[in-house]
Order: sequence, then structure tokens, then C-alpha cells
Amino acid sequence: MADHQTADRGCDTTGVELIPYEQALDHLLEHATPLAQSESLVLTECLGRILAQDLTSSINVPPTDNSAMDGYAIRTADMVENGKTTVKVSQRIAAGETGSELEAGTAARIFTGAPVPAGADAVIMQEHVEDDGATLSFDVALKAGENIRKSGEDITRGQVVVKKGSRLRAQELGLAASIGESHLSVKRRLRVGIFFTGDELVEPGKPLGPGKIYDSNRYTINGLLKTLDCEIIDLGLVGDTLQETKAAIRKAVEKADLVITSGGVSVGEEDHVRIALEQLGELHMWRLNIKPGKPLAFGVVKNTAFIGLPGNPVSAFATFCLFVSPFIKQQQGSSEVRVEAFEVEAAFDWPRPDRRREFIRARLGRDQKQQMIAEIYHHQGSGVLMSTSWADGFVVIPENTSIQSGDRVQFISFRDMLS
Ligand code: AMP
Ligand code: MG
Repeated sequence: MADHQTADRGCDTTGVELIPYEQALDHLLEHATPLAQSESLVLTECLGRILAQDLTSSINVPPTDNSAMDGYAIRTADMVENGKTTVKVSQRIAAGETGSELEAGTAARIFTGAPVPAGADAVIMQEHVEDDGATLSFDVALKAGENIRKSGEDITRGQVVVKKGSRLRAQELGLAASIGESHLSVKRRLRVGIFFTGDELVEPGKPLGPGKIYDSNRYTINGLLKTLDCEIIDLGLVGDTLQETKAAIRKAVEKADLVITSGGVSVGEEDHVRIALEQLGELHMWRLNIKPGKPLAFGVVKNTAFIGLPGNPVSAFATFCLFVSPFIKQQQGSSEVRVEAFEVEAAFDWPRPDRRREFIRARLGRDQKQQMIAEIYHHQGSGVLMSTSWADGFVVIPENTSIQSGDRVQFISFRDMLS
């Protein structure tokens, strides 16, 4: 690993140097290799996948000039200036049909989406005409092209409509269908192995014995991975012994592209993830200059990346959003890995500066002038999971900084981090 020397690095209470957020993320992303394999999937299976190749249209959309409304296709050359125009209705064209060339002095009854016949250059709304069954008269002035949707006005032949590396949403599926593609070439799903350490943990649904707590990280991480369209290999709970931890790591790295765990990455006697990793592969143990989420273990075991998150539920959630999510996006082949923060007004005071950069759980709102503001959850403890459910994202408090209500602060939304 490169040396982590920087000027803005802090130290923890034991004098151990703490790595700044960007630096840790840069190092992590150096190890996130994009998946090479892709597969062709039917459109309805593509939601959430990453597009493996640029999607180029082989047709114009719409394929022909067509009517934007129910009315009459006319030739503007037939129009009488400042008077009433009267023409013969010579044909009827519904959507899905084709008409014939419009001769001078005639009009075609036409419906929304029907191809405009050759010779016609405008469509007049049916509400603006009188039609006696044989002739049509109107006295509104029309410009050439009016109420006609031009061929290729949405998409032209040869145009790239979705770029490689895009995550496919419903809009992109519709777009692909509109150019006639039934299948798309997408990256294969990332396989993520997960397990959770802690002898105190009990699965929900079971009675809680003395000294125990419910395992929440498994469900948070599971949901986060599903949000990012990963395939999950869930090994469940693992006891706080070196032997069990090593066995779980060996099993997880067998089939996974990435392994995520929670707990056991501090330096306590019950923290075995770090030692297990050291013995099985390569370990970079980071003490991050962020709050929450100081310890983060990053390793490689048999070519599989491993990220050990802290056990505190808010720390696990935050470090997933800040580190694991970009790592996964890069492995998936996404072109949008890093998330931009945006500026909002603080509707809170944060009087006590911390040496670490803080990611506090915040919710967006509007003040009386309709300016975007951020409020923060009243309890920012790293075990207070209510804050993550209440919030829309993190307000980022720079190192050694206090905030007064009305200050401008940076906000990163959960939605941006997880899409
Ligand atoms: P650790 O990182 O293992 O020292 O755990 C830190 C704190 O997080 C302890 O209070 C643990 O009980 C708690 N914790 C660890 N894993 C989980 C989990 N899966 N669900 C809920 N809390 C957890
Ligand atoms: Mg533990």
C-alpha cells in the first residue's frame, strides 16, 4: 500500500494516525476491478442492471411523420388568406394504417399517431373545423409542420440512446423497447458474500436471552445489497472465535466477488476478523478519520475483495454508503461511482468541533423562503438506528468545524449513494 501521509490527517486517542475519507476511498477503489462478464437478458429482466455496451438505435423514432392529434391533414398551400378555406375530405387514416398522397384541394381525416400522408404538411384540430361529411371548412391559420410529430424527433438512426455503464431504470427499458430491442447486453450480477459476527446477536423472531441483542446489520446490509442489484450469498451469524471466523471467510470467498461482514474489526479480544484476514490473505486495516465508522478492514483473500464493516449499526450503514457502495458500483461496471454532495442551509447548530469528519444523519426540508434546509436527528449515536430511518442523507461536517444555524453545509443523499 502507498503511504498514507497527508497534512490533514488526525490521530486517535492512542496516537494512531487516522486516514482521511477520500484517501481511504481512493485506495479502496484501486482494488475494485470491474466485472468482465456480461450476458444478454430479455428486457423485463434488465431493471437495475448495468448496461455492458452503448445502446445505439437502428431506426428513427417515430419512424414516420405522424399526427399529434385527432383532426385533418391538410396542405397549407390550399389555405385562403384571411378567409374561409374549404377542401374535400378524400381519405381517412387511423393509427396503424397508411394513407395515399394528398392531392391539392383535399384533406385527410386523421387520428393521433397515424402517418401523415405525402403532400400534407399540417394537421388541424378537429375542434377547429366544420365537417359536413364531404367537405371541410375552417378559418384558422396554420403553419407548415403544425401538429405533426416529425420522423426522428425523439431518436435518430445511429444515435446512442443509453450509454455503457448506465444503471437501467424503467425509463431506459421503455427507451430500448421503443427502438425495437428485445434483449440488452448487461453486466452479470455481482455476487456478494455476507456474514455477521457477534456472540450477542440473535435473529429476529427468536426470544432475546439475557445479554443479547437482535441482529439488525444482516437486514440492513441485505437490503442495501438488493438496492444495488447484487446477488447475495448470506452465511448468517458467525460466533466470536478465530476458528469460526476463518471458516466463514474461506467459505464466503469461494463463490463471491466481494465479501462484506460486520463487527469484530476493532482491536478487542473478541475481534477476530482482523486476525483471520491477516492469516488467510492480505489485510489493510484502516482507522478512518470519520465519524461514525472509525475501523474499516479491507483485505483480499484468494483474489476476492473483503470489506469488514464496524458492528455498530449506524457505523455499518454509514460505511456501507460511503465505501462499499462505490466499491460495488465500480465492480459492477457502473460509470457513476462517486456521489456529489450539494449545498444546503443548516437548520441546526453543531457547536462542538470534532477532529474527525462527521457524517450526521439529516433530513431535507424548506424554510419559509422555500430555500432547501437540512435538519438533523436529535441523537447521533452510532447505535441509534432510528436516525438512519428518519434521515434522507448525511450532512458532512468537516474536520475541526462547528456549524451555526444558517451556515451553508454539504449534503449527500442516501438515494444518490444507493442508485
Ligand atoms: P463490534 O464491532 O463487534 O465490537 O460491535 C460494536 C457494537 O455493535 C456492539 O455493541 C455490538 O453489539 C453491535 N453489533 C455488532 N454486530 C451487530 C449486528 N449485526 N446487529 C446489531 N448490532 C450489532
Ligand atoms: Mg463484536
